[in-house]
Amino acid sequence: MLQIAIDGHSSCGKSTLAKALAKSLSFIYVDSGAMYRAVTLAFIRQDIDLFDHQAIAAALKNTQVSFKMTPDGNRTLLNGEDVEDQIREMAVASKVSQVATLPEVRRQLVMQQRQLGAQNHVVMDGRDIGTVVFPAAKLKIFLTATVEKRVERRFLQLREQGHFIDPEDILHNLYERDYIDSTRSDSPLKRAPDAINLDNTNLSPEEQLAICVVLAQSRLKA
Ligand code: C5P
Repeated sequence: MLQIAIDGHSSCGKSTLAKALAKSLSFIYVDSGAMYRAVTLAFIRQDIDLFDHQAIAAALKNTQVSFKMTPDGNRTLLNGEDVEDQIREMAVASKVSQVATLPEVRRQLVMQQRQLGAQNHVVMDGRDIGTVVFPAAKLKIFLTATVEKRVERRFLQLREQGHFIDPEDILHNLYERDYIDSTRSDSPLKRAPDAINLDNTNLSPEEQLAICVVLAQSRLKA
């Protein structure tokens, strides 16, 4: 099976690119961030203390994350319940990076991500896909964009979903998540040495897709 890894900081447009690239190659698309968000929602609902490793282990045993593929995109399921909209809310965004530092959470989700990649040709986006989940991925892209562009994109995305969030709060959340994601000891966000850097600040979704399709086709042929 073939894997394509797309990593980068928060709100760089990773999922837009990964979704479109998967579609054009007829691969499945897996949003690994949605998995961390779904576990975070489960922990919030159960009021789990993130320092209580027994409670975390018990909660993880009863936490199943899966996806429902629909023509309008994937929906994230938590124990069978569609939580796609809830996991995008600020309540989850402000806790997810703390939850993602927990090695037991990462172990469970990375195992599931590798299973998905062993059974399907996959484009997966996240923070550690090229470094940890699929170190032998056929193609690794490390996406970047200016922070202003990232805030603007997140603002528009949230507004489309009916949430009006102050851009200052979005900026604060992006900085905080980037900091925690890049400095944690387990699987920190970093560019894999063999990843291709792509700055999409001034690229349209169509332009970045066209670049990546060419890259993917040449790698997949090789
Ligand atoms: O991609 P998204 O912004 O939805 O990811 C939410 C959070 O999940 C990230 O800020 C990060 O803390 C965590 N994450 C991670 N490893 C991944 C994907 C996401 O730690 N592979």
